Amino acid sequence: MGMEKTSYRVLYIEDDYASRLLIRKILNGPEFHFHEASTGMEGLKKAKELRPDIILMDLNLPDISGTNLTTKIKSFPELKHTVVVAITARDSAEARELSLIAGCHGYISKPIDPQTFADQIRQFLRGKREEVEVEKRDYYHQLYEEALVDNLTIKLQELQRSNSLLKLRTSTLKDYSRKLEKLLTIINDLQTCHSPKQLKQQLIHYLCQLFSFDRCLFLDVDFENLILRVAMGKGLPHSRWKNFRFPFQTQLFRRLFKDRQILPNLTIQQIDHQEIQKLLEEIGTQHFTLAILGTPGNAALQMSSKESIKDLMKPFLSSLTAPEEIDVQNIEDHLREFLLSEVFYIGGYLFMDYTDPNRKLSSHDLRILDMLLRTSTLIYQNLQLREHLKKLFIRAEKDAITDYLTHLYNHRYFVQQLGREMNRARRHQSQFVLIMIDIDHFKDFNDSFGHQAGDLVLQKIGQILRENTRKSDTAARYGGEEFAIICPELNKRSGQILAEKLRKIIEKTRHPFTREKGITISAGVAAFPEDADTPQDLIRCSDAALYEAKRKGRNRVEVFSPALQTASGN
Ligand code: GH3
Ligand code: MG
Ligand code: MG
Repeated sequence: MGMEKTSYRVLYIEDDYASRLLIRKILNGPEFHFHEASTGMEGLKKAKELRPDIILMDLNLPDISGTNLTTKIKSFPELKHTVVVAITARDSAEARELSLIAGCHGYISKPIDPQTFADQIRQFLRGKREEVEVEKRDYYHQLYEEALVDNLTIKLQELQRSNSLLKLRTSTLKDYSRKLEKLLTIINDLQTCHSPKQLKQQLIHYLCQLFSFDRCLFLDVDFENLILRVAMGKGLPHSRWKNFRFPFQTQLFRRLFKDRQILPNLTIQQIDHQEIQKLLEEIGTQHFTLAILGTPGNAALQMSSKESIKDLMKPFLSSLTAPEEIDVQNIEDHLREFLLSEVFYIGGYLFMDYTDPNRKLSSHDLRILDMLLRTSTLIYQNLQLREHLKKLFIRAEKDAITDYLTHLYNHRYFVQQLGREMNRARRHQSQFVLIMIDIDHFKDFNDSFGHQAGDLVLQKIGQILRENTRKSDTAARYGGEEFAIICPELNKRSGQILAEKLRKIIEKTRHPFTREKGITISAGVAAFPEDADTPQDLIRCSDAALYEAKRKGRNRVEVFSPALQTASGN
């Protein structure tokens, strides 16, 4: 034996000290180089260092199961030829089988027989194991491999499943990001809209495009009848707009306000109104979505009855149709009121639907729709405010130059216009005429018929002057019962003719208060540059001619001549 082989390296992995002591004693001698480890990990480390010929291993280790440890040992190429033997309890058949499945070459049952143990080890080392054990080991190896294959098949199937799920998610995600990108360009485009109406039209267009709706309608509230009517839309023929009377569904619309401005994928059955149900069926609606363009204020939540809706909308409506008379000072107050009033800037209700029963808004469609509507609302409010402001400023500008009673130009505008006209005539080396008019004995009229009757006469004369002069003429109320008309391009003679025409019309006009004798005027005519070359002088000259007309008995027209200047100067 001594000649035959040097010695075998033996590694015993066992946490029980007594067992280690026992086997150390048994394998004492030159034939075996005995090493031991008390944990699986220590054993693994030593095995790699020592490359033992044989590893004896307890299957119940504190840190790793014997089978796992065997698998690990077997995975190291340097331990390929190492024999692994499990030391197992006799009654643990299951553990023994497992050890064989994991790749142990065999097992030795506890309790160990000190007489035969060394011999058993020698047999394992020489590969002289019993036939039965070899068969058993092969059988268990086959089992192990089969189990592996089964396991692999299951894993593969799982992988395939998650793969197809991933593909689906990826395509959904792609669709989402594609739509998000589109959303961005849409929003950019909507920002270039210049009126609320244009914004709505564009929005309809894009909603149909982005979500493939078959119809997209903007509905306005008819407050008298509490129904929604089509204001504009796409997909529903114009002839059907009139029939599309969507009753104001309190429940539905309360949810619309409360939730998120969108009620997606509604069905016809959710509307408790037969007429509209029939109509929607007729036009092939399967699922429809209701939404609001605008921000519902808190007040909207409180609406329950017909009355409260009307009440709520009153300030809104009245602020949109501003009263006739607004002066500049009022505008600021008016605007503040408009902004502060708990008005909900609702641009309308949106009805969008599919005729395909399988089509519905997906959750990411809904998210995009929500983003689109919220952004559009901001743009809409902006445009609405801008339009409102524009109206107010146009009105203010007009108010600032208009006489409130006669709607002729006012004194201020007349003075500005006279200056402008004079500059223009100078540049073009042209002429123009200024006619000054004063009502005769108007004080008497007022005294007889009252101031209000006098106002009516002033209004009537204003109308006559407006209607019987050219667009290029400037007819103004100079003050009190005096009027002034600037007539570009006219010379003195044609100015006189015009004044005479006006005098005659006014003389003939019957007023409800006057008896046989009507209202008459006197007029004075002066011309630029013939009579004067400054606005003040021209006014003075016309005035002098007017004074002359009064002096000569009223109800007549006089033209200015230099002789008059000296006369009035006196
Ligand atoms: P005449 O010009 O022919 O000399 O007599 P008159 O009575 O018209 O002259 P006067 O300038 O003395 O009186 C002008 C009157 O015009 C005084 C005022 O009662 C009346 N008047 C001026 N502005 C208004 C107005 O806005 N409404 C009314 N109802 N009357 C006005
Ligand atoms: Mg007067
Ligand atoms: Mg007068």
